[in-house]
Amino acid sequence: MSKALGNHILVEFMNCDPHIMNDVAGIERDMVEAAQKAGATVINSTFHHFSPWGVSGVVVIQESHLAIHTWPEYGYAAVDLFTCGEMDAWISFDHLKDCFKSQAYSAIEMKRGSVNLLTRNDFDMTTMRQKAGEWRNPEFFTRNVWFTDKDEYQALSLRFTGEVFYDVQSPFQRVRILESYKYGKMLALDDMVMTTIEDEFHYHEMISHPALFALPSAKNILVIGGGDGGTIREILKHDSVEKVTMVEIDGEVIKACKEHLPQIAASFDHPKLELHVADGIAFIKDAATEAYDIIIVDGSDPVGPAEGLFSTAFYTNCFKALKKDGILVAQGESPKFNQKAFTELNHTLQSIFGENNAPVSLFFVPTYPTGMWSFQYGLKGNVNIKSPQNESNIESFCEAKNLRYYNQDVHKGSFATPNFVKQMLTK
Ligand code: SAM
Repeated sequence: MSKALGNHILVEFMNCDPHIMNDVAGIERDMVEAAQKAGATVINSTFHHFSPWGVSGVVVIQESHLAIHTWPEYGYAAVDLFTCGEMDAWISFDHLKDCFKSQAYSAIEMKRGSVNLLTRNDFDMTTMRQKAGEWRNPEFFTRNVWFTDKDEYQALSLRFTGEVFYDVQSPFQRVRILESYKYGKMLALDDMVMTTIEDEFHYHEMISHPALFALPSAKNILVIGGGDGGTIREILKHDSVEKVTMVEIDGEVIKACKEHLPQIAASFDHPKLELHVADGIAFIKDAATEAYDIIIVDGSDPVGPAEGLFSTAFYTNCFKALKKDGILVAQGESPKFNQKAFTELNHTLQSIFGENNAPVSLFFVPTYPTGMWSFQYGLKGNVNIKSPQNESNIESFCEAKNLRYYNQDVHKGSFATPNFVKQMLTK
């Protein structure tokens, strides 16, 4: 048997779970583990998530490389296990077969670089200094993995460490806690960025404080969604608030954030909080009339469990449950991302609260696609949300509570609507 420099196993994994085939984080983790299980020394890994789907990546090992290309729409992955030395790549094959839940597969093994066909040149290219420079600590290797939140035309990608701290498929969605290099730990639901340690305050301060300063007499607040806990954390900074009722459909989100994002999920044990793990759509349908001063809908994008949080029926029930001067605040998507949902939501609020009682507040969240996001309001009474009454109170509150985004100028400025948005919202 002629000696060969390398061993190459070409694998066809078929009938795999399409979601697994589209999960860049999971595939990168499985490929790195596949190499390590076979005793390889990993040098680096580079993985890319294609739009609309599909993953390509390579794990460079001291013993050569493992590479993959996936077609989720066919439940198919083409995998190359190229090794040299004593490493048994069939161990990697078995690991990946299990990880990908492949129901059918084929594999061809071939020797590469038969020494009979090669002529060895004895030379020493590297200097000692270079040798030293090439030494690597086998524990450390660079991982180049990107998490991408996208629609068919635009995307936001965050490079993350490859660490997956929490990964549970709940009855409603996939709940993950990942760590990005630039924005720290983050909560992702399915493939959407929900909140990150470094910019969550943009969102949580702007969803809560404008309404609470516009209606300083507010005592009874309802939050629908908000499972990461950031919104209730901000509301409960207002001592005048007597009760916060929170209705989050997915207990896994609360659990993940309590464990891995404690600075956001900081107020779940607050005595003024009444927490319901339930569907907010059903909850508001049975809610008492005129029960709440403020209702905050901190829901995810209009897919899966949150789809109904954009419906006329839901907001009609919210209107009923609000007190005479009540304020509704809703996560409103973006005029530059999901425009249809953004516009339709505002038209729904205009039809229920009145054409001039559905203002939009715009603000920035760097980790949401386009960075430009909105909260949409429904004003039941004559509360003037655009210019808060007691600006001096706001200033002292912002200082005392160490707010990092919200202040009276940002409050007013956020309701300054660009012309293109005004045109989008005109019915
Ligand atoms: N900032 C995020 C955004 O802009 O997309 C929202 C964050 S928060 C984590 C969204 C929460 O809404 C999630 O925890 C999700 O489980 C919850 N949710 C979705 N549909 C829901 C429903 N029908 N009732 C209650 N909570 C819901």
